[in-house]
Amino acid sequence: MTQHREVVIVGSGPAGLTAAIYTARANLSPVVIEGEPSSTSDQPGGQLMLTTEIENFPGFIDGIMGPELMSNFRSQAERFGANYHTAKVTKIDLSGRPFKIWTSDSKSDEPDYLAESVIVSTGARSLMLDLEDEVRLIGHGLSTCATCDGFFFRDLDIAVVGGGDSAMEEAIFLTKFAKSVTIIHRRKELRASKIMQDRAFANSKIRFQWNSVVTELHGESQLEGVTVTDTVTNQETRLDFSGLFVAIGHVPNTDVFVGQLEMDQNGYIVTRDGTHTNIDGVFACGDAQDHVYRQAITAAGSGCMAAIDVERWLEAKHHPAS
Ligand code: NAP
Repeated sequence: MTQHREVVIVGSGPAGLTAAIYTARANLSPVVIEGEPSSTSDQPGGQLMLTTEIENFPGFIDGIMGPELMSNFRSQAERFGANYHTAKVTKIDLSGRPFKIWTSDSKSDEPDYLAESVIVSTGARSLMLDLEDEVRLIGHGLSTCATCDGFFFRDLDIAVVGGGDSAMEEAIFLTKFAKSVTIIHRRKELRASKIMQDRAFANSKIRFQWNSVVTELHGESQLEGVTVTDTVTNQETRLDFSGLFVAIGHVPNTDVFVGQLEMDQNGYIVTRDGTHTNIDGVFACGDAQDHVYRQAITAAGSGCMAAIDVERWLEAKHHPAS
């Protein structure tokens, strides 16, 4: 049966769950459509569900595990009355209010929700290598975030996959901790900007493994090495690394909003005046609209902003200034 809600939050990472805490405390009884469990990073709880220890989220002196942090966020919002719907949004109609939302649970043509306002917090996912052992080893030597995990690789030999600006940036950052950082790139030329290339070439801790793709990951409970295959000769080589950072790009989880919400050329939602999108009553926060900072704390901060923007917007709609 269709439910009519003041606020529907789509996505349950730090941005969506912070928006849920704030809107729930404002008595707006939000429902969070939290996604469905899957093997990729667009699952309930978002990318932090695929991390292990988080040491840079303020307030946790000794760090906290990613899934535990998200579980705390979730319970905190629930305490104030947020509801959860474990499903994916499959279709959304933002052409007029109330907005119409269908989910993977929809049994008929009727939408599951009519929403006076929507907060989009669907996040982004790192492109991965699609290797068999990736899911098992992520957070155990395999990472997609140098800022988050670099600290754990002090004085170790590690590698970064990718030849773009992200890979250079991650590799340069990682040299602060690691003994050596090998950039594994599938071609002989980098895609990165000249300035980033120059910085990487000038860094004595950075080595390059050219014309190479990672075709196998090794290690039981912790990554111990990789097999790379030469893209020219097809020769396979085993290389020992304690850590592997995949930096081959990110994609925002915004497909379902294409053609309705304004996006940049990479699919990130464009926001103005805080978290407002091009559609009145639709707000966006977290990595779905941020390709620069991409941190749990910045996502949570923007989720708080979206909740305050929604609250003010609903207040103005219900009590317009005469
Ligand atoms: P990107 O520019 O798309 O580069 C992705 C890199 O990963 C490319 O080198 C690509 O190889 C490689 N790659 C892609 N799929 C692969 C696969 N399956 N296996 C192995 N390698 C693969 O992505 P990005 O580096 O994340 O950058 C995204 C955008 O953000 C860019 O516009 C970039 O300039 C910008 N950015 C800027 C900065 C900065 O200025 N400080 C920092 C980060 C990002 P090929 O080269 O062979 O295609």
